[in-house]
Amino acid sequence: MKAKTFPHGVHPPEVKELTAEKALERMPAPEKVVIPLLQHFGKPAKPLVQKGDEVLLGQKIGEADGLFSASVHSSVSGKVLSVDSHIHPGGNPAPAVTIANDGQDSPFPVKKDVKDPFSLTPDEIREKVREAGVVGLGGAAFPTAVKLSPPKDKPIDTLIINGCECEPLLTSDYRLMLEAPDDVLKGSVLARMATGAEHLIVGIEDNKKKAFALFQEKIREYKGEAVLLKTKYPEGAEKNLIYAILRREVPRGGLPFDVGVVVQNVGTAKAIWEAAKEGKPLYERALTVSGQAISEPKNLIVRIGTSFQDVTEFCGGLKEEGNILVMGGPMMGLAQWSLDVPVIKGTSGILAWAVREPGPEYPCIRCSRCIEHCPMVLAPTQLAKYTRFNKLEEAEKWGILDCVECGSCQYICPSNILLVHWIRLGKNKILSLRQKKSS
Ligand code: SF4
Ligand code: SF4
Repeated sequence: MKAKTFPHGVHPPEVKELTAEKALERMPAPEKVVIPLLQHFGKPAKPLVQKGDEVLLGQKIGEADGLFSASVHSSVSGKVLSVDSHIHPGGNPAPAVTIANDGQDSPFPVKKDVKDPFSLTPDEIREKVREAGVVGLGGAAFPTAVKLSPPKDKPIDTLIINGCECEPLLTSDYRLMLEAPDDVLKGSVLARMATGAEHLIVGIEDNKKKAFALFQEKIREYKGEAVLLKTKYPEGAEKNLIYAILRREVPRGGLPFDVGVVVQNVGTAKAIWEAAKEGKPLYERALTVSGQAISEPKNLIVRIGTSFQDVTEFCGGLKEEGNILVMGGPMMGLAQWSLDVPVIKGTSGILAWAVREPGPEYPCIRCSRCIEHCPMVLAPTQLAKYTRFNKLEEAEKWGILDCVECGSCQYICPSNILLVHWIRLGKNKILSLRQKKSS
């Protein structure tokens, strides 16, 4: 079978062998969790608890503040120590609820009123997902209930489940596909029902042949299709995935809704199923802990709010030579400067490795390699230049807001130019100017 793909992109070393054959292991809950009220795209949740309150496992401790927000739940039972600002893996401090774990895991009582989740209406599915605080687990953490609510004038015909996990080193989605395929597929069917889509397609890269074979067999029962994709970065970026599978181009500045598609990650599909079937809130997630500087790389299921310190210690600790710590994958992940940051809903991986000091940045030699490899067909060198000289209108005209920050241009640049840094800066400046104008 010929694997499908998109134009451009890069092929960095995969380094998935460190954990690909390691089954998901449930890490014991830590003594203390720090649960940020902002773990998603949008506004922070509003706190529902205060210092001294007793809370139960799965209890809602933060209420979504509007549509573009998500509720957060306690990942342990115990006592609230503080509701305060805390260091956050996103870079800036954020409000968070710190809870001392009483070790009992006393569950918050959930009304189990659903015998058959497949009898739910689309509105009921969305409500269960919203109530459980489910967000996209591929890294973007967009509130899932919103993604399952396509506008009336944009009918959806296809739901794509993203099983690419195209970032190097990460393998926890692969393990979910191997270890819980039915949960992933049942959640996918619920997502298909909620969006009104007719077709269900799971896209899997050809470096995950075992998962592809399993899904090819199982998906028949769910009236869907498994599609083999070429291993290439960033195959899992929504617009690339849609083009690779359906040959549909999401317009500049547009969304998958515009071409009749909704994309969900495999972990999100599993969370949708658990929310609908058991009313289980999103208080834990699968992630990969890997890299040369991790003593025992693993795939884990970790409670939200566990510190990176606790997670890395559970993996045998950091080796001395490590000098880089990242949340997410090595291409799009966020560098961390402290192990005190908590695991959040968007933490797909914790990676540590050793690098030599980065070489100096040289002038652009106009080789155009960044342009040839950009999956969004942008001119990264030009976008970086416009930002550097504060020519934001030009940068916008050249499509800077369509950059998905995949890092392919920077990876391929022979002059070591920090292209993503400049592009991200330009995007932030443009978006904050827009915000100022509208307020
Ligand atoms: S410009 Fe943006 S989308 Fe294009 S390669 Fe660079 S980071 Fe990726
Ligand atoms: S890859 Fe680097 S050196 Fe080549 S054109 Fe792009 S920015 Fe310039």
